[in-house]
Amino acid sequence: VVDIRGLHKSFGQREVLKGVDLTIAPGEVVCVIGPSGSGKSTLLRCVNQLETASAGSVEVLGTEITDPDVDIDAVRSRVGMVFQGFNLFAHLTVLENCTVAQRKVLRRPKEEAERIALENLERVGLGDRGDAHPHQLSGGQQQRVAIARALAMDPQLMLFDEPTSALDPELVGDVLAVMRALAEGGMTMMVVTHEMAFARDVADRVVFIDGGVIVEEGAPADVIGNPQHPRTQLFLQRVL
Ligand code: ATP
Ligand code: MG
Repeated sequence: VVDIRGLHKSFGQREVLKGVDLTIAPGEVVCVIGPSGSGKSTLLRCVNQLETASAGSVEVLGTEITDPDVDIDAVRSRVGMVFQGFNLFAHLTVLENCTVAQRKVLRRPKEEAERIALENLERVGLGDRGDAHPHQLSGGQQQRVAIARALAMDPQLMLFDEPTSALDPELVGDVLAVMRALAEGGMTMMVVTHEMAFARDVADRVVFIDGGVIVEEGAPADVIGNPQHPRTQLFLQRVL
């Protein structure tokens, strides 16, 4: 689903990704952990071309997206992305938030888009909030709407960038539960997270990034439970 090779990314003189190789197989859940500023978000953003690679190749769903002639919108329409901020349209209802892209990008008729939106709102436990506006919901509910909105596009890959780190602690659990159910349902996911318990329980593979390189990767029981590299050990001591 994702095949990243020799990825470098610089902002001006500053090299943020220094040669990253990462593959994600169908149905795999990969959690990316690492210190602030290590390049986690930049790596994730390179997967849907929100950042352009400086060097290397990034293949997503069979398409080499660093190719200048690529139809990036076609790739993006099959990749769901959920950020730290909820990025819902404030002036639209929850249901409308979940139908806009279906109608514009997938050209689904209104009734079909609304049916699919409702199915996905139910999936995240918000089937009865379609008429609400985002400001009437808690942060955790808004984030679940953002997930439902992404799922309504039938994504083949879901990218999450610290989806719970802006939430009050008591709201984190509901969002993680939705993500866990998604993972158990077989969705291919790349998740940047500081939630070590989630990474340990849900990830098939954990990738520890520091200073723009993958320092250590493997099964959660190894990387989180028994880290080999001193930088991984130091990081985990600080966060666990
Ligand atoms: P955090 O855990 O704080 O979210 P991160 O691992 O996601 O950190 P990135 O956001 O990928 O880190 O940033 C890596 C480095 O790249 C940082 O030093 C950051 O300042 C720099 N950077 C990110 N985006 C840009 C940009 N658009 N222009 C210039 N520098 C940037
Ligand atoms: Mg980040």
